[in-house]
Amino acid sequence: MEIFNEIKPLRAFLTAQKKLGRSIGLVPTMGALHHGHLELIRSSRKENDLTVCSIYVNPTQFNNANDLEKYPRTLATDTALLTEAGCDVIFAPANTEMYASPSQLHFDMGHLDKILEGEFRPGHFSGVALVVSKLFNIVAPTRAYFGQKDFQQYKVITHLVNELMFDIELKSVPIVREASGLAMSSRNQRLNHEETGYATVFYRSLLLAKDLLNKGESIIPVREKVKQLCESFPAVRLEYFEWVDTVNLKPAENVSSQTILLIAGYVGEVRLIDNLIVE
Ligand code: AMP
Repeated sequence: MEIFNEIKPLRAFLTAQKKLGRSIGLVPTMGALHHGHLELIRSSRKENDLTVCSIYVNPTQFNNANDLEKYPRTLATDTALLTEAGCDVIFAPANTEMYASPSQLHFDMGHLDKILEGEFRPGHFSGVALVVSKLFNIVAPTRAYFGQKDFQQYKVITHLVNELMFDIELKSVPIVREASGLAMSSRNQRLNHEETGYATVFYRSLLLAKDLLNKGESIIPVREKVKQLCESFPAVRLEYFEWVDTVNLKPAENVSSQTILLIAGYVGEVRLIDNLIVE
């Protein structure tokens, strides 16, 4: 496996690979890798000649200094996991490489980046769009892989690719969960044993909501039940529980196979998100 910290040699390497006709899959990550990330690597390896995994904790997408500072960084373990997973290239740049000068570029995607995560993390998606645009321009992959766990992020990036006409095929990979149902996340590493147990409440809330909605219960009492369930744990603070149309992310009027339930909240100091498509 090749490891690059700088853009120039990575570009030279990839240009040579492209000249040989090789397709390239890009898996952008912030490191502290788990099986969810490795599923993206597996998907990319199936469909491309070469898989590039970027590992970069992008400061412009954090609007909470504490979250950025505490974000787990485990490059040595990540490298071992990626080697074992058969990844071909790691791109792990420093901040000075990705932001040679502070960026003034901001993205406004209207409704898409104002709701849900965008409401609670203002500026987050602008930072995501910025770093993903940089990565797309550096790697120029054939395909790029993202997890359904960050469903809104996938919609934002789809919008970005369409608007800026990136010639890249986007792929969404289903959420990988622990046996307990907890969605895998790098931030789970920050939970203590007790909190890890409490954190399953978000997935349980989604399952409860889906069940009640499928039984014909209306959305207002369902929201109340989700709130009560989350509030039954003192360490848990629900930030939002919403249901939107999977296509346009507008509030869903009726629950259908096009509805996605999304939840976010804190367990102790750690903010977690999860979602479930209603089928
Ligand atoms: P992150 O390192 O958290 O920025 O995530 C990098 C990519 O991995 C994103 O596209 C995420 O949606 C995806 N991802 C994170 N957790 C999971 C998971 N549990 N299952 C599937 N994909 C995931």
